[in-house]
Amino acid sequence: MSALFSLENKRALVTGSGRGIGFLLARGLAEAGAEVIINATTQQGAERAAAQLRDDGHRAHALAFDVTQSSAVQAAVERIEEEIGAIDILVNNAGIQRRRPFLEFPEQDWNEVIAVNQTAVFLVSQAVARKMVARKQGKIINIGSMQSELGRDTITPYAASKGAVTMLTRGMCVELARHNIQVNGIAPGYFKTEMTQALADDADFTAWLTKRTPAARWGDPQELIGAAVFLASKAADFVNGHLLFVDGGMRVAV
Ligand code: NDP
Repeated sequence: MSALFSLENKRALVTGSGRGIGFLLARGLAEAGAEVIINATTQQGAERAAAQLRDDGHRAHALAFDVTQSSAVQAAVERIEEEIGAIDILVNNAGIQRRRPFLEFPEQDWNEVIAVNQTAVFLVSQAVARKMVARKQGKIINIGSMQSELGRDTITPYAASKGAVTMLTRGMCVELARHNIQVNGIAPGYFKTEMTQALADDADFTAWLTKRTPAARWGDPQELIGAAVFLASKAADFVNGHLLFVDGGMRVAV
């Protein structure tokens, strides 16, 4: 691994990393040398993922907390910093999806989507950035979505929340850059995980996706790792406020 991309002596917190994309990102950061903190909604889920990484020889810790709960977030960040060490890299990955036509979308579901996908990015970033500012270094990577760029039926609240992630990324970039903290985002296209299982099972959807995407296929979640390692590394020390699309070209195709 080139020293430019090495994460040796770095520590990363990845939210929602007990499974799915978050787990793969945590594993990718660990393979680049980072010590990682796995977060999930249950301690069992976090511990299972951390144990898997430890079995592969990585340094991994597990800490369950709900990213939408301000007091839980504050307590978790304090605990990590005191008991494990300074957080150098934060990946705001936790996210949920609810699919319903706009006219039928329940307010409760709207609130949940906004809480996990948007408010949590504010809460966790603020708690961690306060520590990073004191140390004058840090990397924050927000997992947005290519969906924030497109209008598509049944996911308006999700797309809106991810649009907010874009602007959280830009705003935090502007305020934190002077403290040597780089804030960037990754905007994935379509990747097969539990979140997209119903779509993956729908042959019509896959037919539409392959036609609509220049790369003509689903993304493999492993293909997000390079973007995260790059943005977390020294190679990205002057990359700030950027949203890196990993979508097989879908966003720019008509
Ligand atoms: P999954 O549904 O597979 O995993 C979601 C993760 O978020 C789980 O680890 C879950 O934890 C965690 N989570 C949910 N709510 C909370 C909470 N309140 N507190 C802490 N953790 C929470 O999703 P993906 O892996 O597919 O998605 C990961 C990210 O990537 C999301 O932000 C998503 O919006 C984004 N994304 C995904 C795309 C895709 O095609 N899959 C495309 C574009 C963006 P637990 O295991 O405990 O339930």
